[in-house]
Amino acid sequence: MAAADLSLIAYGDVVAGCERCVLARTRTQVVFGSGSPNAELMFVGEAPGFHEDKQGIPFVGAAGKLLGTLLAGIGLTRDDVYVANVLKCRPPGNRDPLPDEIQACEGHLFRQIELIQPTLVATLGNFATKLLSGKPAGITQVHGKPQDVLLGGNSVTLYPIFHPAAALYTPRMLQVLQEDFARIPELLGRAVEPPPPPAPLYAPEQPVEHPVQLGLF
Ligand code: URA
Repeated sequence: MAAADLSLIAYGDVVAGCERCVLARTRTQVVFGSGSPNAELMFVGEAPGFHEDKQGIPFVGAAGKLLGTLLAGIGLTRDDVYVANVLKCRPPGNRDPLPDEIQACEGHLFRQIELIQPTLVATLGNFATKLLSGKPAGITQVHGKPQDVLLGGNSVTLYPIFHPAAALYTPRMLQVLQEDFARIPELLGRAVEPPPPPAPLYAPEQPVEHPVQLGLF
């Protein structure tokens, strides 16, 4: 295993005992992150929810299932990417993260980014986008627009996307998410597969050719 992978595991072990904010008192466990420690693409969500807190893995609930589907749509799996959150502990009742909780926890995320060294960081929703862009612009304004930022000492493309949970409540958001996901291969510098031609709604019948038996003599 590479030294950077070991450092990420070792750092996860340190964060598992974190008591930097009050969320340490109500969490089941710290949800550090999951996926490839060498990922080129990292996703950053908001905070663990009920299922994440129980299982210790980010994005395993309904929003996580949709994240998996959106990834599959661009030919990627959860093992190809790294997934983490702004907060590593569940806020009680899934309430929004508080400013002092974000401030207490942000060092963990910055260190993860420094160790993983992704080239593309996709921020899911407002909290991750505002924290990592360092700007107040909300996700509705900036989604789908890549920005160049300096993170963990490296220049990184930041790519804000709506949080998948948004599509669970507003189904037409799914198309926006799919469109924003569709640009990820290009942002990773990968060849983009041309979309398959649309299936015809009505397939005209092909004229049947009756082979003509030619007489040999
Ligand atoms: N929402 C998040 O932002 N993170 C999770 O891990 C799960 C749901």
